Amino acid sequence: MAATATERKLLIGGEWVETGEWLEVRSPYSGEVVGRVAKAGADEAKAAIDAAEKAMAEPLPAHKRAEILVKVVAGIARRHDEIARQISAEAGKPLKAAKVETSRAMSTYTFSAVEARKLAGEVVPMDAAQAGEGKLAFTLRAPIGVVGAISPFNFPLNLVAHKIAASLAAGCAVVLKPASQTPLSALTLAELEHEAGLPPGWLNVVCGPASEIGDVLVVDERVRAITFTGSADVGWGLRERAAKKKVLLELGNATPVVVHEDADLDEAATKLAANSFSFAGQSCISVQRIYVQQQVYDEFVSRFVPGVEGLVVGDPADEDTDVGPVIDDDARKRILSWIEEARAGGAEVLTGGSLEGDLIQPTVIANAAADLKVCREEVFGPVVVVNSYESLDEAIELANGTRYGLQAGIFTADIRAALHAAQNLEFGGVTVNEAPTFRADQMPYGGVKDSGNTREGPAYAVRELTEERVVVIDL
Ligand code: NAP
Repeated sequence: MAATATERKLLIGGEWVETGEWLEVRSPYSGEVVGRVAKAGADEAKAAIDAAEKAMAEPLPAHKRAEILVKVVAGIARRHDEIARQISAEAGKPLKAAKVETSRAMSTYTFSAVEARKLAGEVVPMDAAQAGEGKLAFTLRAPIGVVGAISPFNFPLNLVAHKIAASLAAGCAVVLKPASQTPLSALTLAELEHEAGLPPGWLNVVCGPASEIGDVLVVDERVRAITFTGSADVGWGLRERAAKKKVLLELGNATPVVVHEDADLDEAATKLAANSFSFAGQSCISVQRIYVQQQVYDEFVSRFVPGVEGLVVGDPADEDTDVGPVIDDDARKRILSWIEEARAGGAEVLTGGSLEGDLIQPTVIANAAADLKVCREEVFGPVVVVNSYESLDEAIELANGTRYGLQAGIFTADIRAALHAAQNLEFGGVTVNEAPTFRADQMPYGGVKDSGNTREGPAYAVRELTEERVVVIDL
């Protein structure tokens, strides 16, 4: 273990717990051990649910929840640089992207605090129907109950924040299982919530084997909601097994963007070069498929490819790096094999396509057939396809042609084309003259089709994590 490596225990019922077994956390760039965390199993997961249930027996008033959330914002601000470096070390995320993620987590906590203070029901207009005459009715918003939260490796701080800050805002205690590759940032947030005065049991963090801990969360009836961010197959599998729970899914995408004939090509090329490759394409909304109107195709490519070639590939800890490693060797092999499949299928690699040291070069593929994996599935790596189209409707059909539907985008100067695309792209979000990788944390964010069934962003997550109870009074 490196001299600077971090060691962290689990948080269960307000206590920092050791189990005698440890999970090593390795840098995806150097392979060096950057930390270790106590390893939980089914027993710790059950103890965490016990603690969460006990905590919820004494509800925390909204003002206290909001005060804790605000204190965490200050805590993140105080340790901003250290936290960004930790994200970079455990996830291999370029430091400049890790800094943005750290600031975004502050935003997520801030908006969650606002939601905690705003949480309220509404008055029902009872005399609008004859049956309601002489009655007064209003709704209360009750916390749904204990929340099981499962998070992915690629935003190890801010996606954890979206789950645990929104749960606290809603008045729910949480059992969190962070990704095994990146548990350190989650435990830092737990430390900050603990220091901010969160009473025991409201947040419990268990790191360990996914299926063992996942099974406990699925089977235990006291866990009333599971909020999951990760890959589609795991997510939909959980939902199938947890029929009686609310299972909120934030899943993958094969993000498309349309560059129409009247687009500002310089703007499109610059934004798309950066957003196809930040964090080596390992964002659920990293641009993967670019459809360019054929009259401007060559012109776009002549601007886009040099932009991609100008990206700095290297050590994620270096402030100048744009593109670092992918998460592990399995991911690297899979991505390279998909590039090979595209080559063998007649597509042309315009730049990249192989390794630079251990890192996959930012790769641009042209004329890829729609049935290739790089067009159909989520690459989750530094690979983008640039294909041409004739009509806008054809581009929309191509964009819609995968099982995913998280975010899509269009670059155009024509408001009618933009609105036509917004109405016909089957996605949870559509960006206009912005890369579809854009997300602000207060937005409703989530997908349709295989990409999920919910919206995150504190206001929307709190709605999902509370239940309406109607109170009817006879006057
Ligand atoms: P993943 O392999 O599905 O893992 C996500 C989480 O699920 C991890 O904590 C993992 O634990 C856990 N897990 C795996 N198998 C499980 C099981 N059988 N039962 C319960 N939990 C289980 O995804 P990933 O590779 O970390 O993340 C990449 C994926 O997340 C991509 O598809 C990406 O698009 C998606 N994503 C979506 C969004 C969004 O907001 N829509 C945001 C970010 C990422 P272990 O780490 O211990 O295996």
